[in-house]
Amino acid sequence: MALDLLIRNGTIVDGSGAARYRADVGIAGSRIVEIGRIRSAAERTVDADGLIVAPGFIDGHTHMDAQVAWDRIGSCSCWHGVTSVIMGNCGFALAPCKPEAREWFARCLTAVEDIPTEAMLAGIDWTWETFPEYLATVARLPKAINYGAYIGHSALRMYAMGARALTETASEDDLARMVAAVREAIRAGAMGFSSSRATTHVTPDDTPVASRIADWSELDRLVGAMGELNAGIFQVGPDISGGEAQRAFFARLRQLAVASGRPVMFGTLSTRQGVAPNPWTYQLHYLDECAAAGARMWGQATTRSINAIFSLKSYLPFDVLPAWKELRRLPLPEQKRRLADGETRRALVADEARMKPRDHVFQGGGAATTDPRKPDYDNLFAMKGVDWDDPTVAQLAARRGQHPVETMIDLVLANDDQLFVQPLVNEDPDHVLGLLRHPRTLATFSDSGAHVCQEMGSSLQTHLLSYWVRARQAFTLEEAVRKLTFDNASAWELRDRGLVRAGYRADLVLFDADRVRPAMPTVETDLPGGARRLVQRAEGIAATIVNGQVTLEDGKPTGRTPGELLRGPGAAAA
Ligand SMILES: [Zn+2]
Repeated sequence: MALDLLIRNGTIVDGSGAARYRADVGIAGSRIVEIGRIRSAAERTVDADGLIVAPGFIDGHTHMDAQVAWDRIGSCSCWHGVTSVIMGNCGFALAPCKPEAREWFARCLTAVEDIPTEAMLAGIDWTWETFPEYLATVARLPKAINYGAYIGHSALRMYAMGARALTETASEDDLARMVAAVREAIRAGAMGFSSSRATTHVTPDDTPVASRIADWSELDRLVGAMGELNAGIFQVGPDISGGEAQRAFFARLRQLAVASGRPVMFGTLSTRQGVAPNPWTYQLHYLDECAAAGARMWGQATTRSINAIFSLKSYLPFDVLPAWKELRRLPLPEQKRRLADGETRRALVADEARMKPRDHVFQGGGAATTDPRKPDYDNLFAMKGVDWDDPTVAQLAARRGQHPVETMIDLVLANDDQLFVQPLVNEDPDHVLGLLRHPRTLATFSDSGAHVCQEMGSSLQTHLLSYWVRARQAFTLEEAVRKLTFDNASAWELRDRGLVRAGYRADLVLFDADRVRPAMPTVETDLPGGARRLVQRAEGIAATIVNGQVTLEDGKPTGRTPGELLRGPGAAAA
């Protein structure tokens, strides 16, 4: 058989968790057709000697809805071995959307996910109104990775109810329109329906996003519509307020999961924030209890702390203060000149005393960067690498006998690209490991495409491989690859992806197990309209293959765009 692509001499970690083995992989068209000692001729051969050949990684929690319109390669996820993503999480989506509501949608995405409005207005050719029209656009766009999407509750509510979505309970007419749109979306290939009850999700006017106005009977109806079709996942940004309120949320969610029979997913986190936070183990017991009650439920876990990130080129915690505000408006070289001036420095340090004191309000990456509290310098790290062992600003200041603000000024003067990292949740690696080890959690919560200048989660996959596999030896390579591939493919019912098997799609990543790791993030201004974002690449990934075509070689795009729209199982049935 004539092959289009032959990957020779690699070590296959096939995604099932089975032990690795040496073999060649033969690809014809978009599929793997042969595995073993291959003698067939091939159009192109890639030498994978010394490299792991694994299924391409699958990330189920991203917000790349806007970015897919302008970023062909699917960065930053693509640099970390990701070949498929699901977007439209947490109720935020660009469809359905009436033309007159486009700018409001863009501003909402800016408020919640820090996707710059100017990038969206410059980078999106807004050709759709309904959700099926949006999927058709995604299907058409040139793209180097595969994308699936949820229909988002906040978008849907705004579409059905207009401005009333932000204040009112849905009427019977509203509900009928929303149910019809959910059915239509599932039949067109939506992966499911997403929503949010998280207190961190607010509009540009600092009011709750539309999905948070909905009552539970509305969710019963909308998730129930998927139940009737026996297709679609319900993803929800959970109530993170802690204590009794969070327990009440989870109790009601279990009822919905059992009644609808649809898979339910939410983010599982360990947190010290909020009033009376529940212990991190509470969510894991909850997953087991729900399963015992007949629900099909997954927790979405990440591999490390979720951080607000600060730098001279993006946000600093002090930007809201008067003396800083004036300085921060200036061009970078001028800022640096003034930061070096003794008198200015004294004023800037003194200004810090005026910051809002820390309180029990739960802050996500958005509020932590745009409405910060006085920093806890014991929980603010000066990033020196990607190995989760950075010194705190408090430690560095004590060593230098300085005020922490002065230390931070010195660090940014010495290095424009110095980053400071404030963990928001998942501060304790042992908690993160406990969350990752639970059989009902998935390693998938990068939030890629969102919080573009506030957080950086897109390196989840390479971090799992470098930190938890190589440095901590908490998982074997086979276990970790399975978490990033087959487990996620199974949860999202991607039937022919997530394994290196004959007949499966040829989504593959070739990497050096001794070298793979995230690179240091930097702040770049490469979004449409010149807007800034955090960029993080990876080391040790030799090639990425999507639907049988090489898309990246040593981190460089080949220009090929073989990515496809991933349609949910509801489309196949229709
Ligand atoms: Zn999200």
